[in-house]
Amino acid sequence: MQLGGIDESESSPTSHELRSILHECGHMLGFVHEHQSPARASEVTFDRAATIAYYADTWTPSKVERTVLQIHLEEKLAAYSPFDEMSIMLYEIAACTNDERRHIDRPSKISCVDAAFANLLYPPPLSPNLPLLRHSLVIAGVPPCRLSLILEFDSPQQFRQRFMLWNREARVAYSVVNNRA
Ligand SMILES: [Zn+2]
Repeated sequence: MQLGGIDESESSPTSHELRSILHECGHMLGFVHEHQSPARASEVTFDRAATIAYYADTWTPSKVERTVLQIHLEEKLAAYSPFDEMSIMLYEIAACTNDERRHIDRPSKISCVDAAFANLLYPPPLSPNLPLLRHSLVIAGVPPCRLSLILEFDSPQQFRQRFMLWNREARVAYSVVNNRA
């Protein structure tokens, strides 16, 4: 994790600093970049040369490959959502870097999906908040017919495993596994 550029002389962080702090906290939870999710490639297709050129003033081509273009291997991810353009784990996407010419501003807040996945992958060990977990399951896309089964758990570990099992089945619909940028 890298958390530079925070002005310690100020009593409260700027919006830019707060966004960086929230993004790095996401990494602490194990969240990867949203633009490197297997779900991103189904919606945004990066042009490799244009993307490297876009970042040329600040990053080397290999850093752009590592932190922007490379899609994480589907089987190595515990769980992931459909592409979430509100995720705090997303970088700005410039229109000139992708075939679809989509421009997406860099989000500055934790999205509903970010919060739901944090709740679902890190359920509290004691006194689970069942309404919150149910709400998070709905946000994550779990259909009503599967809610009861996942919510009838004996331990947080079992809850997480059941959610991950459902997610592994569901994400087939929005995964792109051929590793194209
Ligand atoms: Zn990051």
